[in-house]
Amino acid sequence: MAVMNKPTVSSKGGTDAKGGKGIGLKPGGEDSFFTGMTEDDRKEYLMNMTDAALLTGEIGEIDVTEDDRRRIAVFSNGVCAIATNSRWSPDVKAVLVKAKRANVEPRYFLEVDTAFMVNLYEAFDKSYGMDEPENDVPEVERQRKLKDLIALAASRKASDIHMRVLRRYTEVKIRVFGRVQEIGSMPPDEGMAVMQAAFSVASDVGENSSIMSFQQGALNMKSGVLPPGVDMLRLQYSPTSENRGALVARLKFSTPANEVEIDTLGYNDDQIKDIIAFRRRTNGLYILAGKVSSGKTTTLQRTLNKMYLEKNKEISMFTIEEPVELELPGAIQCPVKKKPDGTDGFVEAMKSALRSDPNIIVVGEIRSKETAYLAIQAVMTGHALWSTVHAGYALGILDRLTDLGVESWKLEDPGIVRGLIYQRLCGVICKNCRTTMEEALEKGRVSNELVEQMVHIFGKGPDELYARGKGCSECKLGLASRTVVAETVPTDPELLSLYSKGMRREMFQYWVKPVEEGGLGGRPVMHHALTKVGAGLLDIDEVEEEVDLVSEYIKNFSNLIPRLREDVAELEATLE
Ligand SMILES: [Zn+2]
Repeated sequence: MAVMNKPTVSSKGGTDAKGGKGIGLKPGGEDSFFTGMTEDDRKEYLMNMTDAALLTGEIGEIDVTEDDRRRIAVFSNGVCAIATNSRWSPDVKAVLVKAKRANVEPRYFLEVDTAFMVNLYEAFDKSYGMDEPENDVPEVERQRKLKDLIALAASRKASDIHMRVLRRYTEVKIRVFGRVQEIGSMPPDEGMAVMQAAFSVASDVGENSSIMSFQQGALNMKSGVLPPGVDMLRLQYSPTSENRGALVARLKFSTPANEVEIDTLGYNDDQIKDIIAFRRRTNGLYILAGKVSSGKTTTLQRTLNKMYLEKNKEISMFTIEEPVELELPGAIQCPVKKKPDGTDGFVEAMKSALRSDPNIIVVGEIRSKETAYLAIQAVMTGHALWSTVHAGYALGILDRLTDLGVESWKLEDPGIVRGLIYQRLCGVICKNCRTTMEEALEKGRVSNELVEQMVHIFGKGPDELYARGKGCSECKLGLASRTVVAETVPTDPELLSLYSKGMRREMFQYWVKPVEEGGLGGRPVMHHALTKVGAGLLDIDEVEEEVDLVSEYIKNFSNLIPRLREDVAELEATLE
């Protein structure tokens, strides 16, 4: 193999060593890392080095152990990738000495995480003809790899698995408590084989599917690849360039049907009261909104099972889902399939549900005009209907229904839309390794402005407010669990009338106005999230990312600040 001693590292971009988009390296000396590049830039740079040989690879000139390969990669152009926190380890130093003996001068040090190191070796070893992937991975082998991957993701409590086949390797990531992390890689062919294996055991894949087309499917227990505790895996495949693809697989963990209480999920007392009031009724429309993995299914399942018990099992329930996800022992559950002609299978199922005249109808999601029309019909003929829609806040559910063609006079009728819920899930920070906002500010991890805003709304000093830490043995990346942040709206004639008249501002004001002043006493989801930030449960960065900006809360709801402080104190009292 040709070994080039001459650094030719400016193959890409400019020579701005301080960062920016252009990537160029200047010798930094053995003691310095290139800190000007972002982590993504460093990774991209390394993966795209076409003019360097990997000397510590399988057929490289420098003989190293498998353990060394997890810590350092030395390239012929003097670039060294070093795993986080390994720069001064004796093993790494020993490899650098060997490199010098092989007439390579290590002089460009790029820090990367261990998971990426594995990718780097696979990519370079493969590009030199090593580790040729089997063109035809046997089916049994594919299934085993798929099964192992799902089991690993499940053991880490991941909500989803992301696989992306790139030119040199397949990137494998998982999302844990809302945060994506890389867990490893595999050769491109193997990545494609594992994705195909998933679809070969999926229950409801459309016909004529191929690696060239978008595909959806779901794996259930019958697939034989799900570990205990996971009862469904939903697949979403997208083709990418050069006959490659990307897969997002969502894990659905079993939520035992005998868990029927909602008070451990993170709602506040008023929200729990609202939801209890919703489930008491056997008429009206109740809708939940929130993005994927916002805990909607759990809330819906517990609410409906509790309702069934509260009504002494004397009510009939009919569910229409695509596919069946809710575990409701008392319900008739009807799976919906997309029809070959593309029409919404919900319509037919809903007509059938109405004919059997149940007390409660549950529709997985209202997403077509026909379904929306039938849902309102069902409510107007005396049924209770629970469903979900896509909306960004509770009152936004009304806009969504309008978009779906529901007439304004129906939305104005307080006997129809009775309850709205919007929610998200946020990571609860680990108490063991959390830091104060004061420390975070000193380290430059948060802006001065944000800390000032927090001090303003909470009336607490930065030393009494907390941020997520870096992670410890008791947590995952500084997070200990997840909790709901929500807003609930029991509608009333005044609110719906303001909506129908298009008086949005007045509608919001009426909703948040305290009950004693003639309003509904509602609190927006950001208020709920901030209550948890103030009590040290949530990280402000995540809340700003997932819910809203603190500045927006101050702008729109400054009159709620005194109440926020009371709510924080109340929540803190329950935590002690
Ligand atoms: Zn921790």
